[in-house]
Amino acid sequence: MSNTQITRSLFDQVMVPNYAPLDMIPVRGEGSRVWDQVDKEYIDLTSGISVNALGHAHPELIEALTEQAKKLWHVSNIYTNEPALSLAQKLVDNTFAEKVFFANSGAEANEAALKLARRVAFDQYGIEKTEIIAFYQGFHGRTFFTVTAGGQATYSDGFGPKPADITHLEYNDLSSLEKVISDKTCAVILEPLQGEGGVLPIDPVFAQGVRALCDKHNALMIFDEVQTGMGRTGNLFAYMELEVVPDILTSAKSLGAGFPIAAMLTKTDFAKHLSVGTHGTTFGGNPLACAVAGKAFDLINTETMLAGVKRKEQLIRQHLQAINDEFSVFKEIRGAGLLIGAVLNEQYQGQAKAFFLESAQQGLLILVAGANVLRFAPALNISDDLIIQGMLKLKQAVKNIVHNNDNKNI
Ligand SMILES: *Cc1c(COP(=O)(O)O)cnc(C)c1O
Repeated sequence: MSNTQITRSLFDQVMVPNYAPLDMIPVRGEGSRVWDQVDKEYIDLTSGISVNALGHAHPELIEALTEQAKKLWHVSNIYTNEPALSLAQKLVDNTFAEKVFFANSGAEANEAALKLARRVAFDQYGIEKTEIIAFYQGFHGRTFFTVTAGGQATYSDGFGPKPADITHLEYNDLSSLEKVISDKTCAVILEPLQGEGGVLPIDPVFAQGVRALCDKHNALMIFDEVQTGMGRTGNLFAYMELEVVPDILTSAKSLGAGFPIAAMLTKTDFAKHLSVGTHGTTFGGNPLACAVAGKAFDLINTETMLAGVKRKEQLIRQHLQAINDEFSVFKEIRGAGLLIGAVLNEQYQGQAKAFFLESAQQGLLILVAGANVLRFAPALNISDDLIIQGMLKLKQAVKNIVHNNDNKNI
């Protein structure tokens, strides 16, 4: 049993109040199921916001972690280490990239990407080429540079002067990019599907247009695949299906399948600008994280796993559609692979949180993406059976909310 001295109210006493966690505290997990302090079982369709890509307590990841834990945890970047080199080799062999930089979080990988783009422009074109173009509703992390690149001013306002020369445009609107981009633009940063912003897929024509405009103006195209990468969309990375190759790609969340690690991938021509001493991090590329991520990479990067993601996407979509046929709560079901958004219709605007809370009551963990979108991001290896059970719980939650709403309206 769990420690009964540790309660949710302790959070309010000892933690900075920047999060509002659910009342229940998860204490253990197995595959796509989680249990709380009183042993209530939940089906997990969140995978820790697209992180535990192989579910909880995967035996082969535990083995990779414990084997490495017995050998070497940390050596600093004064040395390199075998797990880091082996993981970098896998990333290089399986993507457009020729060089890898490891960090610890998505924000740090994006921070490195933005700094690299600025440095390439500075070295090659001088001090004028500093503009970074990003998109409304985009999300790139919470460091001051990355949150400013993100497309929600409410996240970046109120902290004093922001990093300068970042322009925001409408996502999927090529003509506005065409008007704004210039030879002073050093980079365009975007997600190949806006995750936090509402599970909004990219228009492939827009993606290809961004590529062409970046080429025209010698700007680097940065794909933030922190949420979409490592199998999430049914491809190793989402760019692979868009017929667009970025100059820089960032990966985190699923990369370590639950162990914190991130990577920035790029080509040698750009990478060379981050010469010795220009950038760094204490923990980035530590052997423990890289050993787990190396094993996760092998487990995720198989045809069976990736094809399974696309098949399970269809299964979830069918169930969401059936729920909607019965209760009329969604106006759209969108996304790619196992990153699916169900957009609430007019009648339920702003109520995503209520669906989330009622689902938890039913023993189901789901996510929201803003106030109007329910988000599903289960482990890539979730069983069909658990998807079906989870969708039954969702149906019950939706039913309860719809009935509650009907009663209010009487
Ligand atoms: C989660 C996320 C980030 C930030 O990652 P952290 O590990 O929280 O710093 C950046 N970009 C995207 C697209 C994300 O989904």
